[in-house]
This record gives sequence, structure tokens and C-alpha cells, in this order.
Amino acid sequence: MFWAGRDDLNAICGMGVRCGQMGIPGDYVMDDKAAREWKTALAAHGFTLVTLFAAYEGESYSDQPAVQATVGFVPAATREARILRTLELSDFAAKLGVGSIACHIGFVPETKDHPVYVTVREGVRRVCDHAARHGQTFALETGQEAAEALLEFIEGVDRPNLGINFDPANMILYGTGEPVEALKVVRERVLSVHLKDGKWPPKDNPEALGTEVPLGRGDVNISRFVEALGEIGFTGPLNVERETEDQAARLREMAAGVELLRSLE
Ligand code: MG
Repeated sequence: MFWAGRDDLNAICGMGVRCGQMGIPGDYVMDDKAAREWKTALAAHGFTLVTLFAAYEGESYSDQPAVQATVGFVPAATREARILRTLELSDFAAKLGVGSIACHIGFVPETKDHPVYVTVREGVRRVCDHAARHGQTFALETGQEAAEALLEFIEGVDRPNLGINFDPANMILYGTGEPVEALKVVRERVLSVHLKDGKWPPKDNPEALGTEVPLGRGDVNISRFVEALGEIGFTGPLNVERETEDQAARLREMAAGVELLRSLE
């Protein structure tokens, strides 16, 4: 997965990949000019975008309380603006001919009658219905809740174009479950995947998140995870994701991740 406005498509294609997901930062301007430029660049490289992934301004992934307070559709103060931004992202994806959108919606409460649960569910329905008019699916990123809770939430939303972007590292970083077991629980709903790695959070600090690390160096067990994707019949792209501030290291580690996946084929 690469980011609009941050990554150079030449560098991504230099890794030998020709399809993937594009992240859209919260401050990225999704106007007609940007759509035209991306269409031209994608066509020139023969690159197929499978998903546009939304991030929102003001999100922090520094620890569990920060995620709770700032990520996705959960924080009330930014909820409406972010839902509208996601509808705009769906329109932008349609202009690029992209058939799926995705985001983190944040920590959804586990009780169905909780007011935040009900409001977030309504927001997700709005995004699904808007995306459906463009013939798109909407994928929720895994990790901030256990697989069973996410599945139950998706069933509660009750929209046929809603599914999951499965990120095995997030299950570890948030301490929400062993990735292969979680994958089996949500198998029917997996629309897309991230290939990312991480280490479990420290046991003595319930607020801490685990540490994201380059693919193959964490606790995911990448070869077993890829094998499990085959077992559930997943045939879509394996989107290598690496989120770290050091851009040079990030690109180098993404390229190494692509090589690692090739070695498993
Ligand atoms: Mg991810």
C-alpha cells in the first residue's frame, strides 16, 4: 500500500508490483485535477488500484487511549466530517475506476445498545449505501476489536457490500487475537488484505500497542498467514504495508517485503 502525496509511483513500480492499494491522507485534495493526474500516471505504469484507503486528519496511533480518542468514526466531534470525507473518497475512487474503499472506523463498543455503537453503525450504513451506488465494496480494517466482535458489527450493519480488510499485524499490535485464527473467523467477509508484521504489546502495560516491524521480523508468521489465505480461498493481491516515519527505510522495507512474499510462492 502506498500513499498519495507521499510515495512516488515510480518507486512502487520499481519493486516489481503492478497492483495495490492507495492511501489517501486526511489533507489530500481529491479534486478533478488529482483524479486526472492519477488516471494518467496509473495508465502510464500499467498499475491497477484495487482499493482507496482513507486516513483522517487528527488521528493518532501512539497508544490504545489515543486510538480510542482519535481514530475513525468513533470520536463524536469529527464523526460527521469524516463520514462526509469518506463519501468524497468513494466519489474519487469512482473517478479512478477503483471498486473498493476502506478505512479504520475505530474502537467500536461491544454492546449493541451503546449510543456510539448505534451511531457508528448508522455512519457505516451511509458509506456502504453511497459506495454501492458506485458499485464499490467498503472494507473495515481489522485489529481494533476481536474478530468475533467485528463480524458481529458487520452483521449488524447488514449491507451486502460491507467486508473486511484483514491486517494480521493489527491483531497482534492491539492484542486482539492470533491472526490465523482470527482470519478463519471472518473468512467469509475478507475483501482485501494487508501484509504487515508486528510484535505483541508488553504485558505490563495495558495501554501500550505492540511494535510494527518489517515483514518477516515480527510475530505474524508470514508464511503461515499466506498459507492460511490460500486455505480460505483468498485470491486477491497481497498488499505489503509498512508504516514508519523514515521514508527511505520504509520503501526499502516494503521492497524487501515484496521479495519475501515472492520467496514464498
Ligand atoms: Mg493495515
